[in-house]
Amino acid sequence: MKIGILGSGQLGRMLALSAYPLGHEMRFLALSEEDPSSLLGKTFIHNDDPNIIRSFADSSDVVTYESENTDVSIVNEISLNTGVYPSEKSLYISKHRGREKALFDKLNIPSAPYEMINTLDDLKSAVYKIGLPAILKTATNGYDGKGQFLINSESQLLEAWESMSGVESILEGFVKFKRELSLIAVRGVDGNLEYYPLVENTHYEGILRLTIAPANNINKILQKKAEDYMRLILKEINHVGVLTIELFETEDNLIVNEMAPRVHNSGHWTIEGAQTSQFENHIRAITKAPLGDTSCTNRYSAMINIIGDYGDLEKVLETKNANLHLYNKAERERRKLGHITITSNSIDELNNSLESLKDFMP
Ligand code: AMP
Repeated sequence: MKIGILGSGQLGRMLALSAYPLGHEMRFLALSEEDPSSLLGKTFIHNDDPNIIRSFADSSDVVTYESENTDVSIVNEISLNTGVYPSEKSLYISKHRGREKALFDKLNIPSAPYEMINTLDDLKSAVYKIGLPAILKTATNGYDGKGQFLINSESQLLEAWESMSGVESILEGFVKFKRELSLIAVRGVDGNLEYYPLVENTHYEGILRLTIAPANNINKILQKKAEDYMRLILKEINHVGVLTIELFETEDNLIVNEMAPRVHNSGHWTIEGAQTSQFENHIRAITKAPLGDTSCTNRYSAMINIIGDYGDLEKVLETKNANLHLYNKAERERRKLGHITITSNSIDELNNSLESLKDFMP
């Protein structure tokens, strides 16, 4: 099939790399010819020309998107003539933290207490209700910790509100979590579902740095609880494709932080670490093919993000059981340039490889 991707970053690139072996062709609606997906398919540059989106859609049998920051009106326009998966509903909800929270509430899925904020007065009364510490986040367009302000004291309220530049925001109670987990699942058009195991994520300055897959010490009850949340969400929004939920594990509960209607950085380990990667499964779902096996190829996997500068890449290539994935991007502070996957059936071997690559971590 001819698959169109709205966006042309590393997620589009890795979707394309998994789609070619299945015999598909790719098109991208991109911002520039230099994007990570360039050379991986026909590129339509998204400019002021209203015909570009139509040409892109007309040349595709099915369209998907790689970011929740995608414009809903574009998806709406394309879906009049061409199938778009996940649908507009998945995008509409996931791109707004308040709508996501309302969905979690409706499904009785626990998440941090919250209030929507449009003014400084809203923020003052929300802090009164929720208490401190709390995190103020922009309702839309936040990623990698951008658009967030941790409020520890009432003296910071004006500074926190000003940092939002007047846009709609959400105040969330601070969750004292033991660790951060995520769950990735894929749902087909027929409603079939496959889950990957829960993974453990370590962030630094709001950016994911390390994923351990599967997460250590996950009992069946916890995995099932996460899958129950996931199933409720997928069915409610009739999602088709991959969906990710980010979770906080607390002393006595599993709390959802947010969701993403797409392949996710915490699933990059699946390229080598699972029988079918998250990328291939997303492609399978949106092309109405049977879903692939999500079980692990090795007992242990890890994924390290390469952030800001490339570092010693020779070291990665020399490290046993490590695989390098670069995104064809120029070095820039806080930018995701690539990732390293490590797989092993021995925990000692995995830890040795992690130790030898520790310079890639903060
Ligand atoms: P987010 O963009 O919502 O994924 O937030 C980025 C990171 O900030 C998360 O991975 C957590 O480490 C932290 N964080 C976000 N929301 C909360 C919260 N309500 N309580 C504690 N930490 C949070």
